[in-house]
Amino acid sequence: MGKKIAFVGLGHMGGPMAANLVKAGHSVSGFDLAPDALDHARKSGIDVADSAAAAAAGADVVITMLPAGRHVLGAYQGKDGLLAVTSPGTLFLECSTIAVEDAQAAHEMAAAAGHRSLDAPVSGGVTGATNGTLTFMAGGSAEDFADAEPILAAMGGRIVHCGGPGAGQAAKVCNNMILGISMIAVSEAFVLGEKLGLSNQALFDVASAASGQCWALTTNCPVPGPVPASPANRDYQPGFAGALMAKDLGLAVQALESTGVQARLGSLAEEIYRQFAEGEGANRDFSGIITEIRANASVETMA
Ligand code: NAD
Repeated sequence: MGKKIAFVGLGHMGGPMAANLVKAGHSVSGFDLAPDALDHARKSGIDVADSAAAAAAGADVVITMLPAGRHVLGAYQGKDGLLAVTSPGTLFLECSTIAVEDAQAAHEMAAAAGHRSLDAPVSGGVTGATNGTLTFMAGGSAEDFADAEPILAAMGGRIVHCGGPGAGQAAKVCNNMILGISMIAVSEAFVLGEKLGLSNQALFDVASAASGQCWALTTNCPVPGPVPASPANRDYQPGFAGALMAKDLGLAVQALESTGVQARLGSLAEEIYRQFAEGEGANRDFSGIITEIRANASVETMA
């Protein structure tokens, strides 16, 4: 049976995710601060509310898909906040990418208000959100996960229960640290190959079937040619924007600092992507990092 779902944050990701909930037969009431997002949402059959509190009134489930932790905690708190305006026992699904610590704080606040909650960040980008094929990484109790699973299934293709509160964000931050580092590694290898006179196709043909194989190479290949659908073939239009990779690696570094883990490559990848995102890289696919690496590669060699 369809649920009454409040959806707060109807941007690039939240808009199509909420639209898929409507298609699955749920009654969705939504709110966003941006008028454009509300116009799109209205066209997808979402009942647009005047405020987050109005969207959440009477909801069985509240989903947030907001830019960062401060937006989520801000929307939860206060006398008109999402936690205060909903009936005890409401299920909160926090799908934004935020720090593990913020996710844990959101769980604690929800529990203190008598609610149930999961952190359930996603991977799969706008395409996955539109096609309903996102991967959800969930953290919270087994009971809350079981209740959330059919709702998440309307928006995603793969739903993994990663553990207790914050485990979903932990999985997200670890996965994206692998991705950031591996894209830099693949890009450095292509640039070195070019300098050695190796064609990109030859390196791809070997590495894609050898021990260098990884998603950054075989799906999001940073050079044009070997993988026709990769962003490199359309001048690095995202895809997954450099600004989002810089954000996610910033969350990884925050997690490294809070746990005391030394991860030299993770920290270096964060620095590299932060610089990339300060310039034009912000709005380019993160695989465009290869153009920076290539530009910096030509050091005079000794004769
Ligand atoms: P976005 O900026 O397009 O959407 C966020 C929306 O939240 C905006 O429309 C904004 O107006 C709205 N908003 C901000 N504060 C609000 C508030 N207090 N109340 C109501 N609405 C508010 O961002 P996005 O690309 O949809 O990303 C959302 C989250 O998903 C982020 O945490 C991002 O890191 C994560 N994510 C994005 C992608 C991607 O490819 N875009 C992939 C995976 C995860």
